[in-house]
This record gives sequence, structure tokens and C-alpha cells, in this order.
Amino acid sequence: MFSDEIAIDLGTANTLVYNKSQGLLYNAPSYVAQNTENKKIVALGSQAKEMVGRTNPLIMTSRPLLDGVISEYECVLPMMKEVLRRTSPPLKRKLTISVPNGVSDIEMRAVVDLGYQLGYRKLEIVDEPLMAALGEGLDINQSYGRMIVDIGAGTTDIAVISLGSIVVGESIKIASDDFDDAIIKMIQDKYRLKIGKLTAERIKMIYAEKIKGLMEHCQESDDSFIEVSGLHIIKGIPGIIEVELREIRECICPLENMLIEAIQGVLSRTKPELLSDIMEEGILITGGGSLIPHVAKQIEIACELPVRQSDFPLDSVGKGLELKIKGYPVKPKYA
Ligand code: ADP
Ligand code: MG
Repeated sequence: MFSDEIAIDLGTANTLVYNKSQGLLYNAPSYVAQNTENKKIVALGSQAKEMVGRTNPLIMTSRPLLDGVISEYECVLPMMKEVLRRTSPPLKRKLTISVPNGVSDIEMRAVVDLGYQLGYRKLEIVDEPLMAALGEGLDINQSYGRMIVDIGAGTTDIAVISLGSIVVGESIKIASDDFDDAIIKMIQDKYRLKIGKLTAERIKMIYAEKIKGLMEHCQESDDSFIEVSGLHIIKGIPGIIEVELREIRECICPLENMLIEAIQGVLSRTKPELLSDIMEEGILITGGGSLIPHVAKQIEIACELPVRQSDFPLDSVGKGLELKIKGYPVKPKYA
């Protein structure tokens, strides 16, 4: 028997869909490609993401979520209708959607509308940091303070959790996509080379992999570089350059510091009892942004607290949602 209870982690970068009986049904980039004239869906997920910057006038691609909230409602609705048509049964009883902690009333309204427009009779909206903590195996309903930092693509959610809710929290609009933007700016300013967003993301991922390798071998730095191709903005012709790891490190550093400041701000507003719990267990960091290995290290040094990195940072919220629809009691933000 199919279970008709569905949960969606509608992330800026990745969308995950779960149901009660089968678990993960869908996990793909939050992109859609549509025909510009009749608005029919041409591609979804990775296929649509690969079309970005490569379309003809008959096709438009969109990434309809910005900073963790719906920015293009007219694209997110057909995208999610199609995702659910492909993955889940037509019986539509109950839907759970997670949202960043800091959503405004208007942003929340858009998610509620989306839920009902998708045709579900019952809708629950839950906090993403709570789901991330649950997905990481923490018993969020305990009377015990835990700090979770979810560095997504568009937002970083910082939350102290106890007794099933967020006691102190902050959502900031600085996250892993901003690392991409910083790389684009650095390469343009320094080398006069224009690169696209997907290229910048690829550079960031290669960088993360190389740094991880260095850290595993306890090396501070090496002289390796990443080859980057783009458009030379003065000559107006294609160009190839070599960027040192240090240069990428330097352009990410100011953003890392802003994340640290926000975490310190939340810690400074946390009651001493909860703080002593956090000192015991440390801070848990998750989300795709935590895949830049030195981010955890820098937080650890600056906050003087142990930091644990998730083993599955792209799935923690999804895993939490799965546990929720399987019956783990969660206080919804909207029901
Ligand atoms: P969201 O929940 O906002 O959709 P995710 O937690 O799924 O975001 O993280 C997506 C972000 O993580 C993107 O900015 C992506 O570039 C980055 N990311 C994904 N994989 C890696 C990787 N292997 N190394 C570095 N960054 C990564
Ligand atoms: Mg997320």
C-alpha cells in the first residue's frame, strides 16, 4: 500500500521529497526549465540546472527559491506539481513542508498557498533547524540545549533548541551561494575574467575537495591551483587562468567571519543552563555550506566550543522530515 503522507524539504539549492512508507522519493536541484510560450515543463532537477545559461529563446530556466523562501511562485507551483506527479500517488491527504526559522508572515503565506495549491487536504509547516537536528539523530523534545547551524545555499539558520522548539535563533541571508558570488567577484576583479554561477559553484566544490585532502594529511597549504576558464572582459575573448587555493580561501574568509559573528550573537543571547549543555555537546553544523572544511574549524576556534560536522549535510533536514511523518512528535509552526 502506498502511503499518502508526504514531506518536502524545499531548499534554495535542493528539493527532497519523502513519504511515510518508502522514505526518499526525490532528491534533485531546485531548478525547472519551461517553454517560454506555453509554460510547459521541459526539464526538472539536474537536467534543468545544466541548461542554465545554455537555453535558446524558447526555453527559460528558473531556480524559484531565493534565500530559502519562494521568490517565483509562478515557477515553484508547476515545478512542485510535476515533482509530485512523477513521484507520489494521486491520493493527497497530508503534506509537511519545512521553512527556515526566520521566514516572514508573507513568506509563510506563500508556502501555505503552495501547500494547498498542490491539493493536499492537511498541511503542516515545520522549522528547518528542528528537522535538521532531528535528522541528525538528536532527541529534540528533551529538556536539553542543543545548537545547530544549517548553512544552506541561500540562508544560514542558527538555532538553540530545547523541549521541541527553538529557544534562541537567527536566520541570516549569508550562505554557500554567497561563497560562489565571492569567487565570481574575486576572479573578475583580479583577473578580468567573467565566469558564470555554475562555474563558480564547481570551483568551490573542487576547492572544498582539495582543502579536505590537505586537512586529512595535516598540511597547512600547498601550491596547487584550480584552472578556470571564462570570458576576458577587456579582450572580449575566452581566457584560462590558474587560481590558487589561497585566493579562494581569502575571498570566502569575510563571509565565514559574518557567520561566526551571527553564531556568537545567538550564543550571547542563550541562557547559562542551555549554554552549559552546548558546551558539553558542542555545535552541530550541517547544510551544503558545511562542506567547506575550514568553516567548522574557524567556528570552533572563534567560539571556543567543539564543533561536529554532519556526515550527511545535504540530507539532515530531509531525514528529520522523514522521522516526523513516521510519527516523531513535532510541534508545527503552522497546522
Ligand atoms: P539548501 O537547503 O538551501 O537547498 P543545501 O544544504 O542543499 O542548501 O546546500 C546547497 C549548497 O551546498 C550549494 O550552495 C552547493 O553549492 C553547496 N554544496 C553542495 N555540495 C558541495 C560540495 N561537495 N562542496 C562544497 N559545497 C557544496
Ligand atoms: Mg536546507
